[in-house]
Amino acid sequence: MKNFTKKAQLQQHLQSLRAGGAVIGFVPTMGALHAGHLSLIEQAQQQCDIVVCSIFVNPTQFNDPKDLEIYPRPIQDDIAKLTQAGCDLLFNPDVAEMYADNEKWHLDIGELEALLEGKFRPGHYQGVTQVVFKLFDIVKPDVAFFGQKDYQQVLVITQMVKLLNMPVKLVMCPIEREADGLAMSSRNIHLTADDRQHALILSKTLNNVKTKFDRNHIEQLVQNARAAINAEPGVTLGYFEIADGNTLRPAGNNTKKVVALVAATVGKTRLIDNVIVRD
Ligand code: AMP
Repeated sequence: MKNFTKKAQLQQHLQSLRAGGAVIGFVPTMGALHAGHLSLIEQAQQQCDIVVCSIFVNPTQFNDPKDLEIYPRPIQDDIAKLTQAGCDLLFNPDVAEMYADNEKWHLDIGELEALLEGKFRPGHYQGVTQVVFKLFDIVKPDVAFFGQKDYQQVLVITQMVKLLNMPVKLVMCPIEREADGLAMSSRNIHLTADDRQHALILSKTLNNVKTKFDRNHIEQLVQNARAAINAEPGVTLGYFEIADGNTLRPAGNNTKKVVALVAATVGKTRLIDNVIVRD
């Protein structure tokens, strides 16, 4: 695997590959790679000739400085995992390479900014769109791969690509889970053994909602789900919603695509998870 830290060098390399007709796949990440990230790399390998992975812990999308400070950065392990997975190119810039000037960014992504994660993490999606725009501009991928784990992020990026008319196809990949159901996340490393057990309430509750889903009793299901999570020791619920999979507004009787989404703090760690209830 070739490792680039400078955008100009990566761009030059990609230009020659593109000139040779290669279809470029892109997997943006913040590192601390796990099987979820590697499943995106695998999808990209199946659909593209060349796979570029980026590892960049983007400061502009963190609204909590402590969260940014403690975000894991095991770059040598990550390089080993990507090499083992057969990834072609890694882009691992530092903050100065990505943000040379004190630039401004704002993109009107409508209601998505104010709902769920947007509401709980003010400014988060401005930071996400800012960095993904920059990364797309550098890599110019034909196809970019994102995880359903960050469902709202996929909707936000889809909206950005549409608004700015960017020539990239987006693919959403399923959530990789531990054997007991916990959604894989780079932040799981911060969970104590007790937290790890209590965190299972999230995937359990989502599964329960999926099994029992019935359009006429959405409110009851939401209430029961919130009560189950609130009753779990060490877990503080942020939100639990059953939402329209396209708009993230609360789902109603006529909603076609339905997603249940949850955010909660377990011990000191904020986790998110979701399940597609009806497609
Ligand atoms: P992150 O490094 O957390 O920014 O994630 C990079 C990409 O990996 C995003 O598109 C995430 O949605 C995706 N991802 C994170 N966790 C998982 C998971 N458990 N399964 C599948 N994809 C994931």
